[in-house]
Amino acid sequence: MVLLALMLLTGCGSPAADPPAVADTPFDSQPPPPPFRYLGEANVEQFSMPVGPVCFDAPLGPPDGEGYLVSQGFGGPRDHLGEDWRGPGVDGGLGDTVAAVCDGQVITARDYGVGGWGKVVRVVHRYGEEQWVESLYAHLERIDVEPGQRVARGERLGTLGDADGQTSPHLHLELRESMNLPLWHGYDREARGWIEPRAFIRAHRTDCPERRSTGGALHQGTTAQHAGPPVVEPAGQPAWTELEPGLELAVFRSPGPSTDGDSTITVLRVDPEHFEPVLLMASQTGTGEATAREWAQEHGLVAAINPSMFETDRRTSTFYMRVGDHDNNPAHHPRANAWLAFGPREPGLAPVRILDPSCDDVALRERYHTVIQSYRMRTCAGSTAWKPSARIWSHASLGVDVDGRLLLLHARSPWSTHDFTEIVAGLPIGLRSLQYAEGGPEASLYLRSAGLELERVGSYETGFFESDANQHAWELPNVLGVRRRVAATTAEPG
Ligand SMILES: [Zn+2]
Repeated sequence: MVLLALMLLTGCGSPAADPPAVADTPFDSQPPPPPFRYLGEANVEQFSMPVGPVCFDAPLGPPDGEGYLVSQGFGGPRDHLGEDWRGPGVDGGLGDTVAAVCDGQVITARDYGVGGWGKVVRVVHRYGEEQWVESLYAHLERIDVEPGQRVARGERLGTLGDADGQTSPHLHLELRESMNLPLWHGYDREARGWIEPRAFIRAHRTDCPERRSTGGALHQGTTAQHAGPPVVEPAGQPAWTELEPGLELAVFRSPGPSTDGDSTITVLRVDPEHFEPVLLMASQTGTGEATAREWAQEHGLVAAINPSMFETDRRTSTFYMRVGDHDNNPAHHPRANAWLAFGPREPGLAPVRILDPSCDDVALRERYHTVIQSYRMRTCAGSTAWKPSARIWSHASLGVDVDGRLLLLHARSPWSTHDFTEIVAGLPIGLRSLQYAEGGPEASLYLRSAGLELERVGSYETGFFESDANQHAWELPNVLGVRRRVAATTAEPG
């Protein structure tokens, strides 16, 4: 304690506000040989800490991290030196408690202002005679501890923030095997001295005094994994699983792999003779947002998917959207050329269709009860409407096949919309038209039928959620669902 205070007074242990020159390294000019220790034993003697238990927990949602996810892992293409933890909602868990991962002593509690780090807390933990680790928590909204303070595992250090607007809301968590190095850059190809946080935490919770319901497993996310139908490989025959009359499911593997995940596309095929499509909107029901599963359970739907993108008010569709006389958005978007229409108001019209101005009379949309406008993915002539792009994301999309059946499509694995459209067009599903519904972590598809429950959630989205880590179904203000039609009569009269 005394030595710590002396160190802080002399300033030698206080991290520099400005990061060192980029060409430099955070280590001495002669890096020690492995096993790597930057400052050696002298470094840790200044912390007069008793040896604590080998018990590390998640920094959010302790003890197990339940309800939180890691949106950017350690390492990866950008050489991330930590993990970015966040809540599942659009606010990222802003204001949520950030907890000490283990018993320890605060060495830094400081606002670095501009420069990207914001408010930072650093804690050293002694978990064996010679075993020390430092945890670093950055971008905090608020700091609740002071340098030198002892903290217990799970104790609040501050709250999750956005570095005062410099980042999206998340916790940047680092674990370091050397104490009190400069802040550094958060990213570096040279990662010696940094530890993968989740791997370390998982491996160091054997002595935790309380028994955990999860048996000590560290996890993020509560979405259960459900068995689905067998995956159809690219050269395989189409293998639809009939769940009940008029409802079939197939999962296809793309011939061209994605950068993440299993590269599959889930397709639910819905015969409108047996199933009625329904559009549910928080703007009409007056209820709040809910996951696709919750929408389905609340409203008796067999399946639910995103209908279209929505605005920041989390109510209004980005495009024209109407059910009956209720306009969710009364304005037709000038750059979107697809209108999914269903529920014909007069006989003789197809029960479900996607209207495309290059081959349809779009005025027909006035003759349907429900209309959902969005971006066209494929033209009537069969060409892909989107340009090739380096921007990739998970997809939810809506199609109609040559027999007039509604197709609900979901792919967690990210592709550009151009590539995804070409992959879907190549599937043996008799695709006639296809429109965009949603991209990224909000892209959801829920299904419950014939003893099968599937909950597909998206993840990756360039510029927003650059990770395959999302395990949560996000809440949606609107869903397109399908509901079993009730037989009008059980027997013909007479
Ligand atoms: Zn980070």
